[in-house]
Amino acid sequence: MRLPFTLLIDPVPADSLQQDFADTFHEMDSSAPALRVGELSTQRGDGIFETLAVVNGHPQEVGPHISRLRNSARICELPLPNAEQWRAAIAYAVERIPQRGEIALKFVLSRGVEHGPAPTAWLHAVAAADFSVVRGNGVRVITLDRGYPRGVAEKAPWLLMGAKTLSYAVNMAALREARRRGADDTIFLTTDGFVMEGPTSSVVLRINGEYVTPAPSGAILHGTTQQSMFDYLRTQGMVVEYRDVTVEELRQADAAWLVSSVRLAVSVVALDGEPFPADQTLTETLNKYLLARTT
Ligand code: PLP
Repeated sequence: MRLPFTLLIDPVPADSLQQDFADTFHEMDSSAPALRVGELSTQRGDGIFETLAVVNGHPQEVGPHISRLRNSARICELPLPNAEQWRAAIAYAVERIPQRGEIALKFVLSRGVEHGPAPTAWLHAVAAADFSVVRGNGVRVITLDRGYPRGVAEKAPWLLMGAKTLSYAVNMAALREARRRGADDTIFLTTDGFVMEGPTSSVVLRINGEYVTPAPSGAILHGTTQQSMFDYLRTQGMVVEYRDVTVEELRQADAAWLVSSVRLAVSVVALDGEPFPADQTLTETLNKYLLARTT
């Protein structure tokens, strides 16, 4: 019942028939050293990760997060994660952390130590920041050029677009640029003017009453929160669609949201310094729905 909570994991192969993973989990003192200096995750950002929310003791969207970790591993040619072991590790952690409130649980698979025998894996849970104000007030957003054209993932797979790698320095720099320009967040555009995603979120727009998100073609992540939002909207009889979205469509949208696992849905209230229409009533309803998920 404590945070932060840290678990080192000895990864077993994806096709292992092992069912009890307790001997592969090692609880660590979160303030003590746990990784070796030669770790390629810290030296080169060579690894992948996921962050999911645990709300009142319920880890959210475990299956989609593990599937995306496996997809990232495929793209990065890392050993394929054993889905059952990761599921067990998350359950193990959730039993040992507070059962109330919002918690961010991050899990990482790194290429390990250079020439080392095995990849390194760990899981780390911390109390989530208080996002209630930003959920209520929304975010001021700027568009930023991501520097790649549409279709880059297919043309240049070595750029690892579409994998959730540990190399988030560019994403963090984009957030700093937003703050420098008096905004809170960013929407990345391709060089040819298509909407991609935020540095830590997916983008959903309402265009002529229909809900649209850029197709996760390989250059962006397929957001688990965006998928939940679409599930909800479908139950409300709304039309949802994956397709290319131009920056002109973004500028004229009825509303737009940045959505992600821990902050959840936040409305865009300004775009490139201009006021932007927001639907705070729907944002509130969405966040209630997202917080109430139990799987
Ligand atoms: N896109 C990027 C680049 C992200 O880093 C994230 C989440 O961190 C997302 C999209 C949203 O994904 P999810 O809703 O699964 O958190």
